[in-house]
Amino acid sequence: PLALVGLDIGGTKTHAMRWSGETKLAEAKSGSANVQNVSVETAKANIAEVFAALGAGHIDRVVAGAGGIDTESDAEFLRSLIASHAPGAEILVVHDTRLILAAGHASTGMAVILGTGSAAWGVNAEGKEGRAGGWGYLLGDEASGYWMGREAVRHTLREFNRGQVPGELGRRVLDANNVESPDELIALFHGDTDRRYWAQQSPLVFEALLAGDSDSAVIVGEAVRHVCRMLGDLSALLETNGPVIIGGGVGTHQPVFQEKLRVAMGAIGLVDIRFLALDPVEGTKFISDLSPLPAKNT
Ligand code: BGC
Repeated sequence: PLALVGLDIGGTKTHAMRWSGETKLAEAKSGSANVQNVSVETAKANIAEVFAALGAGHIDRVVAGAGGIDTESDAEFLRSLIASHAPGAEILVVHDTRLILAAGHASTGMAVILGTGSAAWGVNAEGKEGRAGGWGYLLGDEASGYWMGREAVRHTLREFNRGQVPGELGRRVLDANNVESPDELIALFHGDTDRRYWAQQSPLVFEALLAGDSDSAVIVGEAVRHVCRMLGDLSALLETNGPVIIGGGVGTHQPVFQEKLRVAMGAIGLVDIRFLALDPVEGTKFISDLSPLPAKNT
């Protein structure tokens, strides 16, 4: 049986599994090893940590799906970080969106990650590939956890500037960050906090929405529009309507968001929507070809 190690390297964590054929032998998690999010030293340390936790033994193939893999040299660099942990193994590095489609048991269609960051990628029946977004937090990452957390902070600051008393969302943001006054959020945001920290606050927006907060409804509505725009572009490019597989923490944990996504996507003709139930790392089992990058629109 094939000795396979799968890695899902997201903006917040690295999730690893080791299989012998169909049998799962080990599973491990460590912090992010995505150099778009952490330093090279941290990435190396986190890769070493998951491999150590998976235990020793021969490895035939490593399949790693990671965010921020946009060029062949990005992939090559990640391969170099992995190589010493799997001597002699074939190492396939793919963009993390590919894991979503594979874990969704779809060979064609469109995958969307709404995690710490965001991105969409798809492939049609003719093998044409395309992507939308996935440019990192400085250029995009709309509708991601980080984007939502930041929108929540921006909302709280806007309220403060207007002299308003913090509402449902503002109160939650102040509590979550242990601050008394919204203006303290500015230094906190630019200080010692990372994207993961703010991404973890995205549930506040959904909680406030469920408590009837209209500003949170505006933020969520905006996120839904961003996702529809990405998918609309992709669907036109690939001339496909799906299936659409949605993964990532924000995409899979918020029923109120999922419902709104479903309705809005239906309105643009995307009706086969599946929210990923498996861990994306399971998708590595179904990736065995050497077409490594979804970076270009072919
Ligand atoms: C990265 C993408 C990635 C996405 C989801 C973004 O920040 O730029 O490459 O696919 O996050 O993980």
